[in-house]
Amino acid sequence: MKSNRRAFAQALAAGGLGLASAEASATSAKGRRIRKAEVLPVGIPFQSEFKIGVGTVGGKGKPGRYVLVRLETEDGHVGWGMTNTVPNWAYETIEAVVGTLKNYLVPLAAGKTPFEWNVLKKEMDATIRPAVSNGAPFAKSALEIAFLDLAGKVAGLPIHQMLGGKVRDTIDLCYAVSIDTPQAMAAEVKKWPACKCFKVKVAGDPDEDVKRLEAITAARPDIVIWLDANQSYQPIRLERFLEALKDFDNIRCFEQPVRSEDWMGLRRAREKSPYPIAIDEGCFSSFDVARMAAMQAADLVVLKVPKSGGITNCNKSAVVSEAHGLGLLGSGLTDAGVSLMAAIHLYSTLDLLLPPELNGPQFLADLLVEDMRMEGVTVTVPDGPGLGVTVPEARVRESLLKLG
Ligand SMILES: [Mg+2]
Repeated sequence: MKSNRRAFAQALAAGGLGLASAEASATSAKGRRIRKAEVLPVGIPFQSEFKIGVGTVGGKGKPGRYVLVRLETEDGHVGWGMTNTVPNWAYETIEAVVGTLKNYLVPLAAGKTPFEWNVLKKEMDATIRPAVSNGAPFAKSALEIAFLDLAGKVAGLPIHQMLGGKVRDTIDLCYAVSIDTPQAMAAEVKKWPACKCFKVKVAGDPDEDVKRLEAITAARPDIVIWLDANQSYQPIRLERFLEALKDFDNIRCFEQPVRSEDWMGLRRAREKSPYPIAIDEGCFSSFDVARMAAMQAADLVVLKVPKSGGITNCNKSAVVSEAHGLGLLGSGLTDAGVSLMAAIHLYSTLDLLLPPELNGPQFLADLLVEDMRMEGVTVTVPDGPGLGVTVPEARVRESLLKLG
C-alpha cells in the first residue's frame, strides 16, 4: 500500500493524473478502487462585491478562489469535491489547500474504495493533526465531499440517502446583505423578492449599523433578519448596539458579534443580548461545540461543511449541538455548485431554525455545475447519485488558476 501511495503522490506532484495500481483484495471492491485524482484550483468571478465585518470576500475583477478535487475509480466512476478559500475568514490560503491536498491528503485516497471514508478521515487527521480545532478543514472537506459523491455514484444513491435520507424535498435559501450604505443595503433586499430571510452583515459601528437595520426593515417589512457581525464588535461598543436592537421585532439571532477566540466575550454578549447568540468563526468542530456548550457561550451553532472538514464531521457538530440543547443554523462560504450541493444534501436531513445561508447563486457569475434545480431561492434536493449534479469539466478547465 505504501508504494502505491508513493507512486500516486509522485504522479500528482508531476502535475496531473495519478495512477494507483492497488490490487483489489475483495471482490466487492473490484473496479471501485480510486485510481486517479486531480486537484484543480479555479477562479470564479463575482457579480457584485461581498463585504463582511472582517474584510472583502470577493468583488468585480477579483474572482473567488476555489479548489476542486476530481476522483476516478478503476471502472470509470467520477466523484467531485470542492472547497472555497477565504483566508481573511479562516486561515487556509488557496496555496495551502492545493499543497495540502496534493502532497498529504489526496495520496491517502489511492487504492481505497469511496466507501472507506471513515478510514480516510482517520488517516487525514493522523497526517494533518487536529492539534488546534480540526486542522486544515477546508482541504479535508474537498476530499471528503469527493469521496461521498463517488460513493453515491458507485452505489446509485444520493448523498442524503447515505446520511439516512432527506426530511424535505426543497430548501429555501437565505441570502446575504453585504456591508454598504443603508440605502444600498435596502436596495439589495429589494432585489430578491422571493427571499424571506436575509443574513445582514454589520460592521461594528452601533450608530451606522442601526441605520442599516432601519433602512432594510423599511424596505422589506416582510423579511426576517439574521444578524452577523463577523467578529467586528469591540466588547465596549457592543452593549450600546444590543440595547438598540430591542427596538426591532424582525431579528431572529445575532451571529459572532466578537472575535472568534473571545468565548468569554461571547458569553457576556449572550447575557445581555435580547436575541439568541450564534457562534460561527469560534466553532469549527464537534469538540468546539462541546466546549462552547459547557461555557454556555451561545444559543445557536452555525454549521458549515468546509470549516468542519466535510459533510460527516459537520453532521457530528449538528449531533453534539442538539445533544446540548443548542439550535442549528446552516450556512456556507459563498459556495459554488459542488460544495453548495454538499451542504444541501446534509441540510436536507437536519432541522435548521432558519433557511440556510448559501449565497453562491446570489454573488457568483457561475456555479460550475449543471442540472441544479432552483426556482427563485428554492433549491430542489437532488435524488440522482452522489451530489446529483453534473460538473462541466470543460468549463472547469477553462477556469483553472495558475498559482505562484
Ligand atoms: Mg458567519
